[in-house]
Amino acid sequence: MSDIHQILKDTFGYDGFRHQQEKIINHVINGEDALVLMPTGGGKSLCYQIPGLAMSGVSLVISPLIALMKDQVDALRLNGVEARYLNSTQSQETQQEVINSLRNGKIKFLYVSPERLFAGDQYLVGVLRNVNLNLVAIDEAHCISQWGHDFRPEYRRIAGLKKTLAGVPFMALTATADPKTKKDILDNLQLKGSAEFVSSFNRENISYAVQPKQNSRDKLVEFIRERKGQSGIVYTLSRKATEQVSRLLQEYNISAIAYHAGLDTSTRAKRQDDFINDRVDVVVATIAFGMGIDKSNVRYVVHLDLPKNLEGYYQETGRAGRDGLSSEALLFFSRGDAITLRKFIETDNQIQNEILSNKLNKMIQYGATKKCRRQYLLEYFGESANDTCGNCDNCTTSFETFDGTIIAQKALSAVSRLREIYGVGYVIDFLRGSASKKIKEEHTWLKTYGVGKDIPKSQWQTYIRNLVDDGYLKIAEGKYPVLKLGVKALGVLYDQQKVQLIKEEIVQSKKTEILDLEHTDLFKSLKELRMKFASQEKVPPYQIFSDKTLIELSTFLPHNFDELIMISGFGQIKMNQYGEAFLGRILKFCKAQNLQSNMRAMPVRRKIRSKTQSDISSSTQLESLRLFKDGHQIPDIARIRKLSSLTIENHLIHFIGKKELDLESIVTHDKVSKIKSALHETQGQGLSATKALLGDAYSYTEIKAVKASL
Ligand code: ADP
Ligand code: ZN
Repeated sequence: MSDIHQILKDTFGYDGFRHQQEKIINHVINGEDALVLMPTGGGKSLCYQIPGLAMSGVSLVISPLIALMKDQVDALRLNGVEARYLNSTQSQETQQEVINSLRNGKIKFLYVSPERLFAGDQYLVGVLRNVNLNLVAIDEAHCISQWGHDFRPEYRRIAGLKKTLAGVPFMALTATADPKTKKDILDNLQLKGSAEFVSSFNRENISYAVQPKQNSRDKLVEFIRERKGQSGIVYTLSRKATEQVSRLLQEYNISAIAYHAGLDTSTRAKRQDDFINDRVDVVVATIAFGMGIDKSNVRYVVHLDLPKNLEGYYQETGRAGRDGLSSEALLFFSRGDAITLRKFIETDNQIQNEILSNKLNKMIQYGATKKCRRQYLLEYFGESANDTCGNCDNCTTSFETFDGTIIAQKALSAVSRLREIYGVGYVIDFLRGSASKKIKEEHTWLKTYGVGKDIPKSQWQTYIRNLVDDGYLKIAEGKYPVLKLGVKALGVLYDQQKVQLIKEEIVQSKKTEILDLEHTDLFKSLKELRMKFASQEKVPPYQIFSDKTLIELSTFLPHNFDELIMISGFGQIKMNQYGEAFLGRILKFCKAQNLQSNMRAMPVRRKIRSKTQSDISSSTQLESLRLFKDGHQIPDIARIRKLSSLTIENHLIHFIGKKELDLESIVTHDKVSKIKSALHETQGQGLSATKALLGDAYSYTEIKAVKASL
């Protein structure tokens, strides 16, 4: 069995585990089941991918979304791992070919939707029973639960699969953590007792902010213009708004497109593709957008309308900053939105209405709170958190306060006189002495009726919110959010305790800094290079390297391969494929600017180096070598093994590098010396420069082979 740290570095190019990844991975390798709760972007995939790689045999990954499957499979293949997917969009022929590869032990990871898995009398399950299956991973496992927000009936059948495949470890992974859903997953799958791994849901790199919705579209334009060239998502509730807002942005020369479920499939696919491939900066979308995308360099997520609940909001904002770099979540908040939404959630089911209504109330409270937004979010999801995070608008804004004791006394005694059974609206009307028929007659006889006439309704809302934030009042759960006295109420009512309230004006606010780069030109140039490789490989740029990798490159300026391998994201395959080209750009830039390597500035922990070139040949490499020695050509081998020619090429080149395969078995003698001199001439400029110099008579394979032999 391979060391999991070695796999992390060699295959994925990363230097250390995050959160509880290491614990989870070891647990699964020991044959145990696991339930993994981690926020979006936390790194769930590695939790099953590394065990899968460390063990012999194939891992099954059940995933609900076809787009996501393809993304994951592409990412694995770029790192040299044999991953395939099966779904209903593929031709019969392709599906059969995948199944054959599965039978022949050619696949390390098989991604499949539950619908496909259980289709046709569970044919596929039968196949799986007869292969060396090392692990079953259930992605988006909250789909099992009816309590979750996207229940998928087919997921309930996984429980049966677990019985059929007794002995194979099962992992359930999700970013939705509420206790009911969690319990449902554990019960349904009968995961073994010690199986839970809950990570903090805190997304440190995302800063949270809320702004009043007045003039939101102007504010939005300004916000985006200040972030020119960065990727962002803007969510609205209606399709019409997505069209209007994207047009508005275009008028300001912002590269933006609309996305919603009303567009035809091909337009949707094209637009999503443009966004993923950095061809447009901003998508203005309904929540239909984003489910299936994994784009790691989304720098901001803006909500123009109030979402229905915090689960959805947190998931949507979570699409920002998967690469771990600073990102922003901005909500435009209005109470008017809440009224509209409340109509939407009315159904025939009373219990359901109450649940949804409670969730909406929590969403409104998030928008209105003056306390740390991160703390509010984390506590909502059942985690304790510090009072201040330093990275949300409330934490970076100072509010001017005033002595609001009298106001507080009025509000608290009103709540108390009304026996703590009325909602905010009623209490305010009561305080303001409203003549409305809604106010019960006996209430108009009370002493506190009308004591708050001098304060406008909207101002009362703010004050009451403030009193709730500070524990003087509380809002009870239930269909109607009823105001009750909070733990600190008695001191104010009976002990003359002073209360500070917030004035509306904001004194000073600090803007969060996003990217702080010294060598922006180099960063741009590396981005360009990444784009070139991405279109060559037909994958999104972030799958070649994340922005984080490019930032590290332009910050630490590695000068040779030994330094390059220390950069996050450079595994062995990517090192071979792209290392030289990126290094070439950096060296050229450094030469022009007279800059030295800055690797010394890299945190020490990261400098533990793994083996650069693995001395161990894997079984898959050996298999390619065997076929080659049997007289098959590279395209043949690719066909036989159902791998790409590129992969086979890399396998063979590995052996040339180790002098276990004769160079001239791939490159004719007369070409070798020409390639050698071309390599010499174009040193540091990347293989494409060498290729350009040599012309069409020479292939990349030949050039790479000669290079490996040197
Ligand atoms: P999730 O599925 O939990 O939303 P992913 O598995 O997609 O998250 O991981 C998010 C990003 O973080 C990916 O780009 C992934 O490669 C990266 N990542 C995961 N684990 C690590 C790690 N230990 N070190 C560096 N990057 C990591
Ligand atoms: Zn905060």
